[in-house]
Amino acid sequence: MSDLKSQVVNYTKHLGFDLVRIADASPLEDAGTRLAKQLEAGFHSPLTKHSPKERTTPTLLLPGAKSVIMVGMAYSVELDHAPDRIPGDQTPRGLLSRYAWGQDYHRIMGPRLRELAAYLNVLAPDTTSRVMVDSGPLAEKAMAYRAGLGVYGWNSCIITRKWGSWVFLGAIVTDLALEHDSFHGGTCQECGRCIKACPTGAIVAPYVIDASRCLSQITQTRGIMPTEFRQALGTRLFGCDTCQAVCPHNEPNTIIYGNHGEFRPHPFIGPTPPLEMVVTMDNPTFKSTFAQTAAGWRGRKVLQRNAVINLGNTGQPTAIPLLVKALRDPTEPVQTAAIWALGEIGMANNENVKRETQKILLDAKTRITSGSLHQEILFSLDRINN
Ligand code: SF4
Ligand code: SF4
Repeated sequence: MSDLKSQVVNYTKHLGFDLVRIADASPLEDAGTRLAKQLEAGFHSPLTKHSPKERTTPTLLLPGAKSVIMVGMAYSVELDHAPDRIPGDQTPRGLLSRYAWGQDYHRIMGPRLRELAAYLNVLAPDTTSRVMVDSGPLAEKAMAYRAGLGVYGWNSCIITRKWGSWVFLGAIVTDLALEHDSFHGGTCQECGRCIKACPTGAIVAPYVIDASRCLSQITQTRGIMPTEFRQALGTRLFGCDTCQAVCPHNEPNTIIYGNHGEFRPHPFIGPTPPLEMVVTMDNPTFKSTFAQTAAGWRGRKVLQRNAVINLGNTGQPTAIPLLVKALRDPTEPVQTAAIWALGEIGMANNENVKRETQKILLDAKTRITSGSLHQEILFSLDRINN
């Protein structure tokens, strides 16, 4: 390894990153073609604004780019019990994706990557670099694959040897010429468990995710949640870990846990926040809890909409008073979710509960003026009656 590269690698590790590999900055031709095909098929993420060409051509992101430093930080943490099985606890809870348990990784990784970029300038003055943590246009997974950070899983995650796929990725595109790491290639065990387990059929083929069907995206998308995904959501409050949780590369006896305390669950909300807390939280509570994590970036209402749908999926009549409150929410996505959830609970329970939910919905119909909410009410009444 050249002196320059070993200085960069050592400093990256000193900053707390678990993985560092360096790739050349030539265009990612295969990934560009793949992303263009996905765009054509309508499988792309609505949260990604950049074209496949921009995402796969480092020199478009930084003129003169010569190298891409890819880093990884393991976010798996060991808990005393399974996150969704708290001994003796009956509280209805929502599942947070592991990446959103602790402090927002953008705030943990971003400053360290900027420090690394500054260090490049110490090593070689006049170096220009651009830092990216998920927020930039770079196709980070494809670049991580080229750099040999891990292999691709059929679930389209990058799987590392030590930490499985529970790893945050970040990148520095730089015009500094650094010795590149060799490409390893390879794939996962190709067992197909992720495809079978996906609740919405979003993994349409190995390595191909239809983002418009992926609950991870859907839980982050604002607005009314499409009806077809509401039951599949289950009690997922934000994100979805299913295709990673079933992957043999992530089995607890084959991986090691990360050692970053920042990614331990937030002390107040934990990995499975009580749904009542989410539905009733005000803005100051949101700011001191979810807004500190990666689950906060789409705002309070997205979480409340999801939590209301989660309550419907519990089928528990005890959720009815909370749903009545949610019916009075000023936003249509939350009201729609409440109408749907009342329909689910009415449908799943005895005559008394059916009558109670019907009455609530009929009362709401006399008060609510929106045509689309009327349609939702009729849809829920219909389900309860049948
Ligand atoms: S994150 Fe969930 S919904 Fe998305 S592909 Fe994986 S299992 Fe399917
Ligand atoms: S679950 Fe199986 S097919 Fe899917 S990524 Fe893991 S090893 Fe590959």
